[in-house]
Amino acid sequence: MVLTEIEKERYSRQIVFPKIGEGGQEKLKKGRVAILGLGAIGSPAAVYLASAGIGYIRLIDRDYVELSNIQRQILYNEEDAKEYKPKAIAAKEKLEKVNSDIVLDAVFEDFNPTTAERLVKDVDIVLDGTDNMEARFLLNEICVKNNVPFIYGAAIGDYGVLSMIIPGKTPCLKCIIPEMPEPGSLPTCEVAGVLGPAPGMVGIIEAVEVIKYFVGFGDNLESKLLCFDLSSLHFDTVDVEKDPNCSVCVRKEFPLLTQEIKQSIISTLCGRNAIQISPKVDLKLDLRELAGELKRNPEFQIKKLTEHLLIVDYDKYSIAIAPSGRALVHNTDSEKRAKSILNKIISY
Ligand SMILES: [Zn+2]
Repeated sequence: MVLTEIEKERYSRQIVFPKIGEGGQEKLKKGRVAILGLGAIGSPAAVYLASAGIGYIRLIDRDYVELSNIQRQILYNEEDAKEYKPKAIAAKEKLEKVNSDIVLDAVFEDFNPTTAERLVKDVDIVLDGTDNMEARFLLNEICVKNNVPFIYGAAIGDYGVLSMIIPGKTPCLKCIIPEMPEPGSLPTCEVAGVLGPAPGMVGIIEAVEVIKYFVGFGDNLESKLLCFDLSSLHFDTVDVEKDPNCSVCVRKEFPLLTQEIKQSIISTLCGRNAIQISPKVDLKLDLRELAGELKRNPEFQIKKLTEHLLIVDYDKYSIAIAPSGRALVHNTDSEKRAKSILNKIISY
């Protein structure tokens, strides 16, 4: 992919860097990346990769911007939180202003066994910007199954960890962490807190790894685990080994991916006192029409209506509904309760 004169000007400082040069810049232009999760890790990764001229970036996130995100999720501002904008859409709007020459694909969807295949399709590498182990283990399965490299990254408190996983070559995430921790058993940002720059550092290192991977220079985090602690400023890299009997990368078993989804997928959002319900299929709701119907019932109060989102208050609950039918029921941690409230609004 030949560079235009404007691109040569835009990326001149990168092109003059001998390890990249014009050839390296052309490789970045051809690169296709998916960023799964646009929170505190995904935000800086997305900014650096868009700025560096990665030709195609898929921006995946299921969530909306909230005020408590802004402390560390540097893509967003107060306006986005007020509007409760989907992160994928807000991220695309910001990044388009950074680089209008690249393709930015905003995907406002949940990453689950029914969507995983599609969300990592046709990309060269995936960045882990998720905030829970369930999503990471699912990402590991879909990437091993489809032979897509990914960069595992996580942060909590002042601590961060990263590894590069190349199916067929390096250990997979299951080799590194043999047992998936029970959902809710690990501390989350909501309860343990997080120093904004810790996930930021993870995101920036992920971006560096992607650039090195495409251009082909330097050492990388293949078969290595990088751990850092920002309080003591300790950075350590340890070697990790393939488990010769790994159920995922050796025996090719994909239990998370192949679990049969009979009904909608219900997930508890850790520490958020909210339940997410994703229908098995895209319901393609007309939110305006739905709001019109709900208005007739005085028990429902329409709080917000945009093309991406309908927020309805019912009793003490606040329900946010996306056009796909995916809904977040706030103020409950009971799946049953969330489902029964939602059934008053849409049938799943
Ligand atoms: Zn493995």
